[in-house]
Amino acid sequence: MKKFETEIMVTRSFLPPIEEYMGYLQNIWKSHWLTNNGKIHNELQDRLSSYLGTKHTTLFTNGHLALEAAIECLNLKGEIITTPYTFVSTTNAIIRKGCTPVMCDIKESDLTIDETMLEHLITEKTSAIIPVHVYGHPCNVEAISGIAKKYNLKVIYDAAHAFGVKIRGKGIMEFGDISMLSFHATKLFNTIEGGALAYNNNYQVKLNQLKNFGITDEEHAEYIGGNAKMNEFQAAMGLANIKYVDQLIRERKEITNRYRKRLSQISGIRFFEADKDPSIQYNYAYFPVLIDEKAFGSGRDELHSALKKYNIFTRKYFYPLTCDFESCKKYIQIANVEKARRVSESILTLPIYNGLKLEMVDYIVDCIEEIQCEKRHGEKRI
Ligand SMILES: *Cc1c(COP(=O)(O)O)cnc(C)c1O
Repeated sequence: MKKFETEIMVTRSFLPPIEEYMGYLQNIWKSHWLTNNGKIHNELQDRLSSYLGTKHTTLFTNGHLALEAAIECLNLKGEIITTPYTFVSTTNAIIRKGCTPVMCDIKESDLTIDETMLEHLITEKTSAIIPVHVYGHPCNVEAISGIAKKYNLKVIYDAAHAFGVKIRGKGIMEFGDISMLSFHATKLFNTIEGGALAYNNNYQVKLNQLKNFGITDEEHAEYIGGNAKMNEFQAAMGLANIKYVDQLIRERKEITNRYRKRLSQISGIRFFEADKDPSIQYNYAYFPVLIDEKAFGSGRDELHSALKKYNIFTRKYFYPLTCDFESCKKYIQIANVEKARRVSESILTLPIYNGLKLEMVDYIVDCIEEIQCEKRHGEKRI
């Protein structure tokens, strides 16, 4: 196989037709209203609530600050049970809000929190659980709700990957006290940078204050809030993008199915099929694979570097575990996270984005096959 002429990145941000974005910009130029609950911002908020199925959505300038605001809104203190198999944002938010992350292991079946381990980790200091719907795979939301109820704990889902996911026809954001979404450029649905909290309780007044310095009116402030408001330019990107989301999910499903069909012929590569469960409506946001070094013939790191020579850029997502970051170590209580560690050492996410042609998927898999073959036979195939 020849090196591909341009770089194939692991992801590529979706952009709407430029005229559609310009239409919103013209409205902004007319109104001179750039941020602070603008018209476009409010319209996006309504559109999202109906798309996601929650009573309320509050927009933020990014997902991370939304998660911090959720922790503040629920007044969480003490210990929060979470997993280290996530983007470092989840763990950082807990630490930055003065709480202690208590690490729970994950299930190898879908890489979400192992709900059967939760009860062992609960102490009198536990205030909440922050599980992650990793790659859009839904956590066992029913079991988690049951445990939270029994021990009177709050649940915030890191749903940054789960836009558009449903279980039994119900939006995934309807579970837990609050769900955090990220609309970062690399996510399935983007507002350039952006994020939101989706929820059914009446948190909207407090959240709106928390994201705007804690201010209640011109002369009063109730909280020591920061600034995490979404501006009109970000919201405009959201409105321009949201009508394409279902189409984007359909296109990603095709790419996913092509990968699955081709990769099932290669030994030592495992992938996930969340949508095999008929109760799950999946979003195909990522295409992670697990490399079994013995069966594949080379390890994850080797494959990751070998693919670069063909101009294919995959990502070790998530590696390392957040509890292994030097910055986090001293703040964390680590239980047994052996499965998470094993997964993080063999995971690789392959390129998936709208506009990735099926022939490119074939090319990527051909390269993987060639790398395996060369490794096994020490020579090039013709
Ligand atoms: C992207 C992401 C975040 C952070 O969201 P930002 O919008 O980038 O701040 C948090 N958690 C997970 C799992 C993510 O993938």
